[in-house]
Order: sequence, then structure tokens, then C-alpha cells
Amino acid sequence: MASTQLINPATEAKLQVVEHTTLEGVDDAIARAASAQRAWAALPPANRAGALRDFAAAVGGAIEELAQLEVANSGHPISQARWEAGHVRDVLNYYAAAPERMIGKQIPVAGGLDVTFLEPLGVVGVIVPWNFPMTIASWGFAPALAAGNAVVLKPAEWTPLTAIRLGELAIEAGLPEGLFQVLPGKGSVVGERFVSHELVRKIVFTGSTEVGKRVMAGCAEQVKAVTLELGGKSANIVFADSDLEKAAATAPYAVFENAGQDCCARSRILVERSVFDRFLELLEPAVMGVAVGDPNDEATEMGPLVSKTHFDAVSEYVADDAPVAFRGTKPDGPGYWFAPTVLLPQSRTDRTVTEEIFGPVVSVLPFDDEADAIALANDSMYGLSGSIFTRDVGRAIRVARGVDSGNLSVNSHSSVRYSTPFGGFKQSGLGRELGPDAATAFTETKNVFISTD
Ligand code: NAD
Repeated sequence: MASTQLINPATEAKLQVVEHTTLEGVDDAIARAASAQRAWAALPPANRAGALRDFAAAVGGAIEELAQLEVANSGHPISQARWEAGHVRDVLNYYAAAPERMIGKQIPVAGGLDVTFLEPLGVVGVIVPWNFPMTIASWGFAPALAAGNAVVLKPAEWTPLTAIRLGELAIEAGLPEGLFQVLPGKGSVVGERFVSHELVRKIVFTGSTEVGKRVMAGCAEQVKAVTLELGGKSANIVFADSDLEKAAATAPYAVFENAGQDCCARSRILVERSVFDRFLELLEPAVMGVAVGDPNDEATEMGPLVSKTHFDAVSEYVADDAPVAFRGTKPDGPGYWFAPTVLLPQSRTDRTVTEEIFGPVVSVLPFDDEADAIALANDSMYGLSGSIFTRDVGRAIRVARGVDSGNLSVNSHSSVRYSTPFGGFKQSGLGRELGPDAATAFTETKNVFISTD
């Protein structure tokens, strides 16, 4: 049976070997899920809500354990990993309110009563990338379960440990067997089978734009619902009238958090030309101040890249002749360490400006005026997030409305909130996760007319 030898990216020490799920194993799991789903959907809504609260409590009780697993498997700094585990608990609690609020409509019509029901889809397949293994998983499984579905979930090959533990915690908390199953394995086997299996009625895919397009094409074969959360190349736009000190002090954390392995990374900093040099002067100490090091250290802000393969891919963008303005620090010794790197590309079409690097590398570019800033921000196939720094409220609103992106923040770099919708424009994705409407996205609307004649 195929398997993956997991490696601690901070030390290169070998962790355990995780066996891959076979095609037959996937089919068996989907059959179990379909059966569990029917019983789950038939439960009173309050019982489903209670079961999800119990699951949330079990995750809450395992925060340290989950965080330690993520530190070892993904190299996330411990403080960040604890936040991630707590976020999974919060997402479950938030959607535990949904089963009792799956409210349809009563629509006025002639000759009878017309009502709509929000029916669960059946089995939902969730495919997760390696950068935020447990949080992204929860954005799919929590609202899907709340809406009355069963979930089969495939973690990324390199980072399956927290998802596997979440699957166990669901059972320990009392969720029915088969309702939420975690199936580690290859995208080309497990992921593709989710897409091709007729009983899987929706795919939630988070990952690269390239694979997302294949998943979408596969879903089209069966007219299967699909949500895509894909890549990004987001802009952090800094106007001359902004609090420049604040903009420079916060910019590193908007791109180097999680070592830049963040779909929302503001990996293009666009600065109004009149303050370009001053901004770079302020940015340099901020970048030098990012604490890169042992993920087990509470003070660490940035860990290593996730794997050797990924380290090599990121390194290609910073060749010897790369226009490096300055770099932060990194530890010596084993581990896939990559120092925070600031580039000053000479052209707006340089590949460091247009491609998602998914590492701690940021390109800083000047712009001339508001219209130029919006045009430059939008000159991308992506549109996931972005930030706008200005003291002019009118400009903040104009630019926020002008940038083609799903998640923008003004004078801040908002991270994801479970209570607000998240998703991308253009090739950053399709559909929205999180927020008040996410559970509804895992239902079909059924209209029923009852004659009064
Ligand atoms: P990836 O596309 O290589 O893999 C993502 C997942 O898809 C993995 O579980 C993989 O095994 C699986 N997969 C691979 N081939 C498949 C196939 N043919 N059919 C079905 N599943 C398949 O992406 P990655 O390298 O793991 O993650 C990095 C990417 O994810 C980046 O582009 C990043 O921007 C994106 N991302 C997006 C968001 C968002 O919310 N928009 C969040 C995190 C990451």
C-alpha cells in the first residue's frame, strides 16, 4: 500500500508514515457516509446541534494536542497553531447554531400554500491543501455537517495529522460512525474519486488554481456542485496620506505569516511614488524584526517552509541576480528555512509580481495615483484579498469598491473571521465559505406547493 513518510520541516526529523487510502477504501467510506447521512438528516435539528457542540467541546479539550501536532507536521509556530485549533472549535460552535436555523420560505401563491425546504445534498467531499490543514478543513466540514450532510475529507499528503485527529475526536465526541471520515492519500486517487463518485454531491476544493480547474471540469461531468478556494497575489496598497509607520510595521505580517504560505498573503506592496523611499526605510527594520525560528518557541512569528520540494520551488524566485532590497533573518542548521525577502522588481510583468510564490517573498512597486493603484492591484488573474492604507475615508471606500477582490481591509490586514464570508474573485475561486450563509451552500432548495382546494 502506498504511504507518505512525514518529515518535521523545522528539523528534517522523520515523523510517522501515513498509509494512503486505496480506491476501494474510498468507495467503502463513501458508501458508509451515504448511509450515516440518511440517519443524521433524520435526527431532530436540536440533536444535530447538540452533537456539533459536543464535537466543538472535544476539539476545545484537545487544543494543545492539535497545536503540537501542527507544529511537528507543518512547522507552524506554536502560538499560531493554538489559534488554529481554537478556530476549529469556534467554527464548529458557530455552525452548531445552524441546524435549528435552516429556515425555508413561505411564498404567497394562488390556490394553496407554497413552502421551501433546505434539503441536505448527501455526501460532501472536502479536499484540503497543506498550508492550513485544520482550519481550512473545518470551513468545509462544519457547515456541511450542520446542514445535514455527511463528509469525506482528504487532507494534503504532507500534512494529514491534525485532520486525522479531528476525525477521531468526532467519534470520541459521539458523532455517528461514518458521518465524518478523514481519508489520507493522493489527490490523483482519493481526491479524483471524490470528484468522480456519483454519491458525492458537492466538492469543496482548496488548493492551487491549476488543480482546481481540473476538479471543476470533473464536477461538470455529473453537474456536481463545487466550491473553489484557489491561489492569490494580493495587493497591500499604501497611499502617501496613510499612517506610514503603521503601514510599514504591519506589512511584513501580512505576507510573511505562515512563512508566506497563505492564499491571502499580501505579496505585492504597492506604494505611492512620493513616499516610496520613506516606506522602504521604515519597512527594513520591520522585516528584520520578524522572529523567524524554532516553532516551539512562544515568541516565534515565522517557521520554516513546509517541505524540501516547496523550499526548492520558492528558491527559484530568488535567484542570485534577483533584485533583493533586503532580507530578514533565518536559523542555520537543518530545516527548510527561508529568510523573509523583499524584492524591488523593475517591471510590473516580472514573474515575482504576477505569480503566486507561496513563500516569504514580497515585491514592492511604486504607483502614481489612485487610478493607477487600482489598475495595478487588478492587473492579476487572482482576486482573493488585499489591504488599503489611507487616512481619506472617501478614498478608502472608492479603492475598496474598485479592487476586484473578495476580502479587503482598510488600515489593517484582516485575517479570516468565521462569521464573515470568505472567497475569491476571478481565478482565486468560486463560491464563498464561512459567514452566516455557509450552511445554506450545502443544501438544495426544494419548493413544495400544497393545494387548499
Ligand atoms: P494542490 O492543488 O497541489 O493540492 C490541494 C489538494 O488537492 C491536496 O489535498 C491534493 O492532494 C489534492 N489534489 C491534487 N491533485 C488532485 C486531483 N487531480 N483531484 C483532486 N484533488 C487533488 O495545492 P497545495 O499545494 O496543497 O496548496 C497550495 C495552494 O492552495 C496555493 O495555490 C494556495 O493559494 C491555495 N490555497 C487557497 C486558499 C483559499 O482559500 N483560496 C487557502 C489555502 C490555500
